[in-house]
Amino acid sequence: MVADHRDLPVGDRSERRNFVTRVGIFGGTFDPPHYGHLRSAEEVRELLRLDRILFVVASVPPHKDRVVSEFDTRHELTSLAIEDHPYFVATDVERLRPGKSYTVETLLLLRDQYSTTHSKIFFLLGSDSFYEITTWKSYQRIPELASLVILNRPGFEGEAYESFLKATFPGYEGASGGEVFLHPEKEPVFFLDTTLLEISSTDIRKRVLEGRSIRYLVPEAVRKTIQQKGLYRS
Ligand code: ATP
Repeated sequence: MVADHRDLPVGDRSERRNFVTRVGIFGGTFDPPHYGHLRSAEEVRELLRLDRILFVVASVPPHKDRVVSEFDTRHELTSLAIEDHPYFVATDVERLRPGKSYTVETLLLLRDQYSTTHSKIFFLLGSDSFYEITTWKSYQRIPELASLVILNRPGFEGEAYESFLKATFPGYEGASGGEVFLHPEKEPVFFLDTTLLEISSTDIRKRVLEGRSIRYLVPEAVRKTIQQKGLYRS
């Protein structure tokens, strides 16, 4: 007897129902994006087996006290920075949102967007940003919405992160040699030993202003666009 085609295991439904996409969210001003961002994201993608990483360009970053470049410019530079990577995506979700960019709102928005596909969300941030998290809007909600992945940053490495994590988000306990912290109700927090690269957007802007080279600090396409558009010269 020939089976009804509807009974054939074409795209097994239960498998698809349980398929979990592991999505990294990497928010930043990206003014400009540099190899410190890219290499850290790549190591996290590999270590945590992420299916993709969204680079979320902040519209109006609440923590920057200087004027940042236009959103479209930063989005273009970010798209160029990741153009060769099959699993990195630059998103402009924040362009449409008026006012300041708050991580908690971005995570809520992206969680809604991905909920139907059973995604797990990992929020990547540098250790300097992590130590400022108590100044962020509704920061207590963040580890409920996403797993925090804290990236090593020169000058901010060391042991203090464990006590800071426990004081800021009570209930986390260490596992896996201090790289992972677990909580009964919240998502895991990861402190990953990624390569320390002492590169910052501030330093790159300063070098451009002083007429110095930024080659090998940023992808070549980013460097050329900065040069062509005359960015950071004043
Ligand atoms: P600026 O110098 O203008 O403050 P930045 O270099 O810190 O910029 P952002 O776009 O503000 O870059 O950073 C986005 C995220 O990437 C933040 O969480 C930040 O901590 C992290 N980050 C930036 N540079 C590095 C680096 N070299 N290594 C690891 N994480 C980084």
